[in-house]
Amino acid sequence: MKVIKVSPNIYKIETWFMFKMSAWIVTVEDGVYIVDTGMSFMGKKILEEAEKLGNLKAILLTHGHSDHVGGLKKILEIKNVPVFSHEADIKYMEGKEPFPGRKKAQSLVQPGVVQPLEITNGNLQDIDDLTPIHTPGHSPGHVVYYHKKDQVLISGDLFTSKNGQLRKPMAMFTSNMDEAIKSSYVIEDLKPNIVSICHGNDVKEPYKQMKNYLATYS
Ligand SMILES: [Zn+2]
Repeated sequence: MKVIKVSPNIYKIETWFMFKMSAWIVTVEDGVYIVDTGMSFMGKKILEEAEKLGNLKAILLTHGHSDHVGGLKKILEIKNVPVFSHEADIKYMEGKEPFPGRKKAQSLVQPGVVQPLEITNGNLQDIDDLTPIHTPGHSPGHVVYYHKKDQVLISGDLFTSKNGQLRKPMAMFTSNMDEAIKSSYVIEDLKPNIVSICHGNDVKEPYKQMKNYLATYS
């Protein structure tokens, strides 16, 4: 597994398992956050890398798919910290219902382990330096995390990328592609300097590609 420094406060842990798989570590003044936990074999290594950088405060999830929550169990066995995701994905992770478009429900986390991100006046509340933004489509509760100081958008599976170009998320794992394409407007709103992508290389100045992206996919 490779550790890539994305920006002053953000690190990406990257490996290869059929395709690129990533998770992130975000440093804040008094500790660190893990964003996504990869496949189960990645959990321990992600925690080790996180703890080199500071005391783990919480785990944040972009969404509930198995390649993002797989490492959770291993991490929680060693370190008991709170875990948050958008409320809409929790019932799928807990195996109460299959993700939209899938046949079988899959129990990926113990009920009650993942707590909903707090919402105030219709917006998800900031967690330290990270602003979660609901970007449904890839899954109903997909969120991205924006780090304003570093101008980095941790984008989970909102996009993939190839040769420096943004691509749409993987179709076979995406609940509602039209909605996912609409959610990409978050790039126009925030104009991040870097969009960090789970299953692909990060893309610089992604807002410069949005016209083209939307023309191609919407
Ligand atoms: Zn996914």
